[in-house]
Amino acid sequence: MLRYRKSIDILKRSSAVCGYIERIIMNKMRKSGFTLLEILVVIAIIALLMAILVPVLDKVRDQARTVICRSNLRQWGLAARIYLDDNDQYFPYPKRILIVRTPIHNAGYLRIGEDPNGLLWPYLINMDILMCPQFEVLKKGYGFEDAASSYCMNTYLGDYPIEPVEIKNEQQVYNPSRVVLFSEENPWIIPDYSIVASNTILYIRNPYLDDVCNNFATFHNAPSGRLNEGSANMVFLDGHVESLKRQYELINCFRLVWPKKDIPGAPNSQNSP
Ligand SMILES: [Zn+2]
Repeated sequence: MLRYRKSIDILKRSSAVCGYIERIIMNKMRKSGFTLLEILVVIAIIALLMAILVPVLDKVRDQARTVICRSNLRQWGLAARIYLDDNDQYFPYPKRILIVRTPIHNAGYLRIGEDPNGLLWPYLINMDILMCPQFEVLKKGYGFEDAASSYCMNTYLGDYPIEPVEIKNEQQVYNPSRVVLFSEENPWIIPDYSIVASNTILYIRNPYLDDVCNNFATFHNAPSGRLNEGSANMVFLDGHVESLKRQYELINCFRLVWPKKDIPGAPNSQNSP
């Protein structure tokens, strides 16, 4: 939020400079006219201002999208909280949170034009919070043009039969404030980082047992032109939201999805949350 305010301050100062230049130009036009040199100087100043403003505007836009995404995830956390309370703390099946299809494993993401009928929909009720605004911009060109949802659920919670975790009830979770419930994945694959693009499940492999990995999204607040080096937003089982940087805070990402105390195959030091 502090960085957001700083960016707004820079924009305000830049606007003041633009206003000052405009006044000089208007005075000059009233009095005489411009020499070629004066016009060149004005063009150079405008080009310089554009070079300063465009990255600032990009940054402000990214930060605004991150704020909206975090707000969406907070709503997802609240929806899951009410769902869990209504269902004796049993998790929903991760592939049925938004839409129920047959066969069950063919769920995927919600598509534009589809009516959500999944287990969490009665608690979400708002189409606007299903899609991250940054994913909405980036999805084009990766086969996700028809996507109406971008958030995905931790597959180690609920009854998803891909690993023998057997965590069906939130009371079985070792440390709820450090276990991710919903987050995002990229619409593209990054070699040595993610093995599948986004769908409705957040399936991150155990790096101590698998030689393949999978990971969180990387596109929020990324450096210009480097969308694989940003951060991911996520809501934890206790309802709080965090934004974690790929290169620093997501290195030990499996710990964030594994709901038990000990990670199979991991040295003892890696088993501490
Ligand atoms: Zn997002």
